Amino acid sequence: MEKTCPVCGGQGTLTMRVLWPELIQEWGLAPHEVDYIDRQQGELCVHCHASRRHVALTEAFRTALGDTRTLREIVAAAPQISVLDINGAEVISDTLSGLPHYLRADYPEVDLQALPYAENSFDIVLHSDTLEHVPYALRALDECRRVLKPGGTLCYTIPIIVGRMTRSRLGMPPSYHGMPSDNRDDYIVQTEYGADAWTELARAGFTQIGIHTVDFPVAQAFTARK
Ligand SMILES: [Zn+2]
Repeated sequence: MEKTCPVCGGQGTLTMRVLWPELIQEWGLAPHEVDYIDRQQGELCVHCHASRRHVALTEAFRTALGDTRTLREIVAAAPQISVLDINGAEVISDTLSGLPHYLRADYPEVDLQALPYAENSFDIVLHSDTLEHVPYALRALDECRRVLKPGGTLCYTIPIIVGRMTRSRLGMPPSYHGMPSDNRDDYIVQTEYGADAWTELARAGFTQIGIHTVDFPVAQAFTARK
């Protein structure tokens, strides 16, 4: 059965290969891991190009709001929620930017480890495949919690290899996400996340943590409520 896209409400997907040989080698991925990461990033809604990663993030966002409508329908209703979108996520950001209280910030210009916002500012903080590039991820999560209003929710994705534990790339040869042709320093990987990725949220002080999985193990998104 065709699944309905939670961003646009359309049906049907197309799949592109996104990983390249150097990254597969640096990450030490097995063939089945290559397959599911490719699907996470490259299996796209034919209508809005939402990937499985975007779908997982949308599920986290809908859960945070307790709303089952598509993302486009939610935004069209112009809810009075304040959203901080760090780094953006293609169609998600294009859609959410229609909200009346939407703020986009880009890491590293805006430091995720020292956010320039007052505490208790936002109902939702979002980031997608950004935390793995931040040197002090725990500090970044603590900052997200600080700027959330009480009852607000952090929603984010990171690439997770579910069959292993998290490892820091500190002291290892540099590895980069983003296409090899991109400005690489923005994409250096600090942390390769594994099955214990959620524990970082607990260590950052969040006590209500959720995991939204899409076609497990293809894509995961976290929610963490302040
Ligand atoms: Zn779609």
